[in-house]
Amino acid sequence: MYCIVGAGIWGATIAERIASVLNEKVLVIDQRDHVGGNSASFLDEQTGIECHRYGSHIFHTSIAEVWDYLRRFCDFTTYRHKVLTTYAGKVYTMPINLETINSFYGKNLHPYEVKGFLAEEIARAGITSPNNLEEQAISLVGRPLYEAFIKGYTEKQWECDPKQLPASIIQRLPLRFNYNTDYFNDRWQGLPKDGYFTLFKNILHHPNITLRLNTTFETVRAELPTDVRIIYTGMPDQLFHYKYGELEWRSLRFEWETKAVQDYQGTTVMNYSDATVPYTRIHEFKHYHPEREQPFLCEKTVICREYPQAYDRTQIPCYPVNNERNTGLYALYAREAEQQGILLGGRLGAYRYWDMDKAVDNALHTFQKDIMRH
Ligand SMILES: Cc1cc2nc3c(=O)[nH]c(=O)nc-3n(C[C@H](O)[C@H](O)[C@H](O)COP(=O)(O)OP(=O)(O)OC[C@H]3O[C@@H](n4cnc5c(N)ncnc54)[C@H](O)[C@@H]3O)c2cc1C
Repeated sequence: MYCIVGAGIWGATIAERIASVLNEKVLVIDQRDHVGGNSASFLDEQTGIECHRYGSHIFHTSIAEVWDYLRRFCDFTTYRHKVLTTYAGKVYTMPINLETINSFYGKNLHPYEVKGFLAEEIARAGITSPNNLEEQAISLVGRPLYEAFIKGYTEKQWECDPKQLPASIIQRLPLRFNYNTDYFNDRWQGLPKDGYFTLFKNILHHPNITLRLNTTFETVRAELPTDVRIIYTGMPDQLFHYKYGELEWRSLRFEWETKAVQDYQGTTVMNYSDATVPYTRIHEFKHYHPEREQPFLCEKTVICREYPQAYDRTQIPCYPVNNERNTGLYALYAREAEQQGILLGGRLGAYRYWDMDKAVDNALHTFQKDIMRH
């Protein structure tokens, strides 16, 4: 028997593989009252709009194995993600592309002119060897674009001066020298046609799988049979009562509002790059599904403002802080887990940021490598 702690996309994938391929019993538990982990969504009762509980989640991948695997459980829409940014009261397209540059500088440059134009901007800043994030970003796009689109956003995201952040955070910026405004370059993208809740319901729908929500690992641990194999997708420091210290995370706060207008911002995600605006982005969920006529045309709309914040144990762990201290600390917890025969997995258990496709890919490979061949 297997016990999988966490019904996020990693835990659900590995549960399905064990149940289907090995024909073994699997108990999946989650402390939350829903499946799907951070990729979960819900239907807003008033409007019928599908809202992503923990910020916009768009599925995108270039991994054929992952794309084929997930399409066994749902069809995907043809949605293609675009992002806009409001800066100083004006809206620009992201990632920085020819339209952003022309609109920002009031020019009409051609693709073959823009590299030279930016090179002059970069040279004007006179940075030869960048020592921090600010210098690195300026050496990639020049000071004016940095100050408009990167500085304030980064200050809010990390709650510190970009000069205090390492240059390594941005090796390169996704600059486009044409009018391509697609946010992702992946081969496939879309949203589960019938919602994330249906995707997760279908993955976990198997006679060998038992699901227990509102259940923490700590509360069921004592009642598990002694030969159970535990696969843990929670935080390793919490699992071991923080005995070596606490792993650091960045967190987010979501502020929800229903607006009495048919369309609030005309798009799914609007970034706000001014440091004076306290949130980094606003999500408007109805735009993810223009094909769902009734919620799309509803005279109301659901929006959600996203505020970056420091993490404490009462908050959602969103982004790991992968520095030297935390890497060392994680290694201690990983060793402890291995000694106790607990398999750590998922973004929390691995202490990594993974998009959903990378999480599924890792789960499929972990199944092959650590479970099938065990
Ligand atoms: C703001 C934000 C936006 C994102 N947007 C995208 C996007 O657009 N596209 C994309 O591909 N990816 C996106 N991601 C990444 C995506 O959220 C992850 O890939 C995904 O959540 C990984 O799934 P997981 O199963 O590893 O972890 P999770 O989804 O975090 O699931 C872990 C589960 O374990 C449960 N758990 C933990 N500890 C315990 C315990 N002790 N007892 C019981 N249950 C426990 C938790 O309640 C949780 O439900 C985004 C991430 C963030 C933070």
